[in-house]
Amino acid sequence: MKTITVFKGDGIGPEITDATLSILRAAGAPLEYECFDVGEAEYERHGALIPEAAFASFEKTKVLLKSPITTPIGKGFRSLNVQLRTKYDLYANIRPAKANAAVKTPFPQVDVVTFRENTEDLYVGVEEQIDEDTVHATKIITRGASERIIEDAFRYAETHGRKKVTCVHKANILKLSDGLFLSIFREIAKKHPTIEAADRIVDATCMELVMYPERFDVMVMPNLYGDIVSDLTSGLIGGLGLLPSANIGKDMAMFEAVHGSAPDIAGRHIANPTALLWSACMLLEHLGEHGVAGRIRAAVDRALAEANLTPDLGGTAHTKEYAEAIIDRL
Ligand code: ATP
Repeated sequence: MKTITVFKGDGIGPEITDATLSILRAAGAPLEYECFDVGEAEYERHGALIPEAAFASFEKTKVLLKSPITTPIGKGFRSLNVQLRTKYDLYANIRPAKANAAVKTPFPQVDVVTFRENTEDLYVGVEEQIDEDTVHATKIITRGASERIIEDAFRYAETHGRKKVTCVHKANILKLSDGLFLSIFREIAKKHPTIEAADRIVDATCMELVMYPERFDVMVMPNLYGDIVSDLTSGLIGGLGLLPSANIGKDMAMFEAVHGSAPDIAGRHIANPTALLWSACMLLEHLGEHGVAGRIRAAVDRALAEANLTPDLGGTAHTKEYAEAIIDRL
């Protein structure tokens, strides 16, 4: 048994966490859970967005399943997600988007993995008011952070039977910052001769991803492009309800759905838990539990093909009913 930390989050967070944990338990995942309420609701109740005990648990277990958290707006808080990623140096954000045969989209051939650098770029959040009508934002690109994410992308390609890594950038305009990222990519690519290396400007990438998604395999990019391009890839496969992610650091890892807390549908029990569940599968695989992860993935595939789905996928099922359909197919 391995103990993991679970953050339940805000909005649809508790609903999709309950659904995910019920499926993990039914699948016999060899996990024990230390669960914490975090986020806006927790702040209103106890005055801290993330209680100390929740941080302490993650520092002990090193593995976190995190559902979406709302960062209160206008109270001077830095995004909790950005905080968690930087506090624990969870530098590699891995977002696999694979079309599922059961989910009808115009893009059935999509199978891409975005490697998003998670600790710098414009997300350092350094902005300066120059005068009343002028604001500057700082974009940071460093050799160290670029090297490790690019190296990880190539290593992932080699160990997961992938053929190509594409560097996504805007080095034609941002010649120094993205230029550095691209030049490091080219250096590292030479060390991985079995993997095809390509690079694309970010705007052209968005167009090509929609027109010719089969041209892409693993993609690696700085933080902001990774945020935008990976949401685009979720649109290609059927929406945010289907995009999981891993945030990996040196010895700690956090797994979460890419989507936010979806306040527009919170409390209506219609949220799709698949993205969080697939994130939990990535967590199990990270722990070497490939068997149980595979069983859950197979049950989800069957449920997506046969069951009443949640409204984002065109069905009428409530979150719990859809979770039970997955459990029935385990
Ligand atoms: P953030 O800025 O925190 O990423 P956001 O404002 O981009 O959040 P989300 O909360 O991700 O927005 O929601 C975007 C849209 O996708 C909303 O209409 C929401 O209802 C829908 N959505 C997101 N997640 C799910 C889900 N799991 N199931 C169904 N719909 C979802």
